[in-house]
Amino acid sequence: MIDAHCDLLYQLWRHDYNVNQSDALQFDLEKWRASPIKVQAFAIFVPDTTPLNQQFDVALKMIDLFYEKIVLPNPDIIQIQSKLELENLQPHQLGAILTLEGCHPIGTDLNNLVRLIDEGVRIVGLTWNNNNAVSDSVMSIEGKGVSRFGEEVIQLLNAEQIWTDVSHLSVRGFDDVIDQADHVIASHSNAYRICQHRRNLTDQQIKAIIKRDGLIGVTFVPEFTKSSDFVSIDDLFEHIDHFIELGAEDQLCFGSDFDGITNTISGLENVTGYHRFKKELFDHYSRRIVNKISSENFIRKFPRIN
Ligand SMILES: [Zn+2]
Repeated sequence: MIDAHCDLLYQLWRHDYNVNQSDALQFDLEKWRASPIKVQAFAIFVPDTTPLNQQFDVALKMIDLFYEKIVLPNPDIIQIQSKLELENLQPHQLGAILTLEGCHPIGTDLNNLVRLIDEGVRIVGLTWNNNNAVSDSVMSIEGKGVSRFGEEVIQLLNAEQIWTDVSHLSVRGFDDVIDQADHVIASHSNAYRICQHRRNLTDQQIKAIIKRDGLIGVTFVPEFTKSSDFVSIDDLFEHIDHFIELGAEDQLCFGSDFDGITNTISGLENVTGYHRFKKELFDHYSRRIVNKISSENFIRKFPRIN
């Protein structure tokens, strides 16, 4: 199975947790190895409270942590930068992909984005919940779309064969990405029809992603799943059912948001919950559909070939 979003790097930057095993982490290396997740995306997420002139340095610091704590000390963990590397992963190996959650750390300098891509970033979220030089976020009142600089960013992502991530993006920004980006992903968003949270995708947006043959990462954020104090795996299936009803079986993947959330769905408290979830997936859907959602869609669409 493949997971397109977690915030472990942020937690490692923020706290001195033991990456090998920590009860404070929803995703650590011991839990990862004990889970069915074969490939995990690790987001560089710089808090918007970081002074502007330090944000890019913090992003680079998180990349250092990715290498120092995850990739270099563990011969079984392989950094994935291309579809070829994804397909060549051996049974005993795990894959790790760098991603960016929000373009605010690059400021207005395209060279900063080039640097992150050189380091292996393969999914680029245009915004987090704050507005930046690329676009407004979904939390913005004005809700502006992609700026002129943002258009340059998308052109670079297209040229470099990198995903443009619309999770957290304003509605107008979303439409601009659909118009301009070659490779569209919503790495961690659910269906608005099922749970009316502004971070979720409307039916119209889901259909637009299907039309562009993009990807949608079903997320385990309880607030995006059901407006209730108790959220179960069954509630998550309502979202998956809805996505599939709209015709998205070739576009679905998962983006848990582990270590980016405080509250969790019952049974999905950490990455090892994927065992039970996987079993229930097979109870709900055909083997063909489960395989597509679990990994095949993500691999098939991975933009960078080698
Ligand atoms: Zn997020």
